[in-house]
Amino acid sequence: MLVYHKVDNKFELGLTRVTPSQFNRQIYHLISHGYKLVTLTDLFFRCSDDPSAIAITFDDGYEDIFDYAFPILQKYNVPATIFLISSYIGKLNEWDANLGWIHFKHLDKEEISELIQAGWEIGSHGVNHKYLKGLSKREIENEIGESKKCLENQFNTKVSFFASPFGKINLNILEIALNKGYKGVCGFYSFKRYRTTLQIFEIPRLAVYFTDSIKSIDRKLSTGLRLKIEIFKQSITNFCSNATILVNSLR
Ligand SMILES: [Zn+2]
Repeated sequence: MLVYHKVDNKFELGLTRVTPSQFNRQIYHLISHGYKLVTLTDLFFRCSDDPSAIAITFDDGYEDIFDYAFPILQKYNVPATIFLISSYIGKLNEWDANLGWIHFKHLDKEEISELIQAGWEIGSHGVNHKYLKGLSKREIENEIGESKKCLENQFNTKVSFFASPFGKINLNILEIALNKGYKGVCGFYSFKRYRTTLQIFEIPRLAVYFTDSIKSIDRKLSTGLRLKIEIFKQSITNFCSNATILVNSLR
């Protein structure tokens, strides 16, 4: 499972974006190598026995996904799943402390509706993109539950998956998501996995960044040692993202 953040030519201090031409090359590569790109719901409930099925997901719901990634995926007639921050629809990403003077706009209502019409699935990325592990149980319930309600009412569609902000998951988060009616919770790959008897699953994903090559994308979708190399790279990135969480918490 792959996760993208920004697909844009605009400069940023972090490396969480890929350029539109990188994205185009990557999607062309996946499709020409026989991968079937589907939404998360299709992946888990309709194509679960198809090893060629994979899901492209996007976190944060930036407008550049509509401007650049959407037309590329449309070319191949394939959908994706996008995780939205429910209180930042149509707004600037002021929740992100690391960007300095550069701000990015989130998708607005019309753009999201168009994606849904084209077969995309929307998921929740919380109400405010808060670091959940640092919140009280009631606050976590609010972030996970209210964002689902808000998105479902606004877009008249089912929200079945939650992507935890900063990719961090624990048992508490999984249990609350289950109670709120989610089918799965996405995080970033880490060495620590929560295998539980809960009827909800943790979905580990590997992020695609500016520095990734076609070879590293192949490794992210493979098994064994090649996959482990990418999981190791992801854990280093996860470690660095703790700095972002710290900066955010000090504001
Ligand atoms: Zn995020």
